[in-house]
Amino acid sequence: MTDNTCTQCGYEHVVINRKSNGQRLCSSCFKDSIEKKVLKTIRKNKLVTKGDKVLVGLSGGKDSVALVNILNILKEKGIIELEAITIDEGISGYREEGVRIAKDVAKRLNVKHHIVSFDEKYDFTLDKIMEAQKGKDDHQHACTFCGVFRRQLFNQVARDVNASKIATGHNLDDETQSIVMNYLEGNIHNMVRIGYKTEARDEHFTPKIKPLREIPEKEIGLYVLESGFEVHFDGCPYAHESFRMEIGDFIRELNLKHPTIMYSTLNNFEKIKPAIKKEYDKKHVVPNGTCEVCGEPASQSICKSCKFLEKIHNELLNDGNQNG
Ligand code: SF4
Ligand code: ZN
Repeated sequence: MTDNTCTQCGYEHVVINRKSNGQRLCSSCFKDSIEKKVLKTIRKNKLVTKGDKVLVGLSGGKDSVALVNILNILKEKGIIELEAITIDEGISGYREEGVRIAKDVAKRLNVKHHIVSFDEKYDFTLDKIMEAQKGKDDHQHACTFCGVFRRQLFNQVARDVNASKIATGHNLDDETQSIVMNYLEGNIHNMVRIGYKTEARDEHFTPKIKPLREIPEKEIGLYVLESGFEVHFDGCPYAHESFRMEIGDFIRELNLKHPTIMYSTLNNFEKIKPAIKKEYDKKHVVPNGTCEVCGEPASQSICKSCKFLEKIHNELLNDGNQNG
């Protein structure tokens, strides 16, 4: 058996050499292995049940394209209903391409597609917020704003279309980064929320699932290319500023010498999580009310996102008045 022989079927053209387990796979066996693994993750962790309506986040990046393609297998089998949503944050020179690809993918797979923009919903773009943030003492990172508003829109659309699950394309690299990052920051609140799915707290809350969380980012990129999709690999222009990126570089470096490090980080975290969660739950009450403005679960009458939103509107308005 040569280095170019698939360890699964013997075909003489391998596309991947997995250092973590010694497998060498041809294109077809590789795609098969990814799909089987994701479907197994879904089954094992009961991420969907028959009749679920899944709303999948489709940014046009490789993770979301892989996810919608695999969830589509369940749609075609009549197990779930599937719709996709693309959120246009207003990041010029970056998001346009993603939206175009997302449209093509949804069309190719015959998946109903919703496109929602910050501009349309909130009357600002992420670029505008960041422009107004320049030189401010309490300057906040783009991802902070982006995350809060994206989450809010996602939840709103999920309710509008009666989705019973929201699926996101977080991969093994993302999850490992979140574990290490939140540990280093001592952010237990975020740490106990890392997992295959979020628990449903009330009828306003659409549970979120992460079917790709056991697949490394590199393999997702390859899967998408081998499946004949076009993807844009360009990163978001705001991403380079983040602590997450530094953690990502650190883990990738570690991964060169220890090819199973990401799997073990994830698996070991799953082992210690119940203990952390038990301690955390003893001291914290889960929000049991809903926000008067947006209807999201909230511990106060107005949720954090809506307070944030008001602050930005005021800032942009003030800047507009000063400039004008
Ligand atoms: Fe938004 Fe940050 Fe992601 Fe860019 S990197 S899309 S700003 S969350
Ligand atoms: Zn709210």
